Amino acid sequence: MAKRTHSSTTSAKVISPKPGRKNGATSPAATRAGTAGKAGKPAGKRTAAPRPWTVAEVREAFSRFAAANPEPRGELEHLNPFTLLVAVVLSAQATDAGVNKATRNLFPAADTPDKMVALGEDRLRDFIKTIGLYRTKAKNVIALSRKLIAEFGGEVPRTRAEIESLPGAGRKTANVVLNMAFGEHTMAVDTHVFRVGNRTGMAPGRTPLEVELNLERVIPPEFMLHAHHWLILHGRYTCLARKPRCEVCLINDLCRWPEKTV
Ligand code: SF4
Repeated sequence: MAKRTHSSTTSAKVISPKPGRKNGATSPAATRAGTAGKAGKPAGKRTAAPRPWTVAEVREAFSRFAAANPEPRGELEHLNPFTLLVAVVLSAQATDAGVNKATRNLFPAADTPDKMVALGEDRLRDFIKTIGLYRTKAKNVIALSRKLIAEFGGEVPRTRAEIESLPGAGRKTANVVLNMAFGEHTMAVDTHVFRVGNRTGMAPGRTPLEVELNLERVIPPEFMLHAHHWLILHGRYTCLARKPRCEVCLINDLCRWPEKTV
């Protein structure tokens, strides 16, 4: 779990800009994510660096998310930690809905590493052939199943380094599994979280890792278990990439995006 340095006790405290970025200047990613116009094109102008969020503002934002949706759920269907791991590996460059469509048939047939290996790569490919990059993903799922059996007693390991050592699994996979399967306070940054972190100005960053570390730094610990899902759902259904629904946004008064429509 990432170490926290953020104090959440002083309501007027201002969260400092990301380390390494002078004067809290807006990052290129923030510019890209934050100035996409109605047609999804860059607006072509740089705006002044947004005022950093205060501790009280971040707390207020997540209090509103929590009040609106106290128990947010991820949308990747799974039966246990192993099938969650497989679903996340399959979800790279694919939609959750597309993955769910395939795994609804796959997981009843193979919900453990042993059963997945017994199923074999050819039959696995048939189950997932509607998902992009399915050949590579089938190879990885069989290989990671073999590794789980050989090195981890058939269980999904509980450390980031061990999960990242599995074929097809990267940092985002580890963060999702650690959070959803084991309740760790990790922050997986997908395209939605990356956009929301930058556009709102809550956690600007040029890379997913920068946004992840900034979010971990600013979000109060009591919200971290569900923060990943609140931000994904916010990006997926409200803060849409091309046409954000600012008029119904729960945090539209807090958002720093110069082009918000309210
Ligand atoms: S007001 Fe809300 S929906 Fe609009 S850009 Fe900001 S966070 Fe996104």
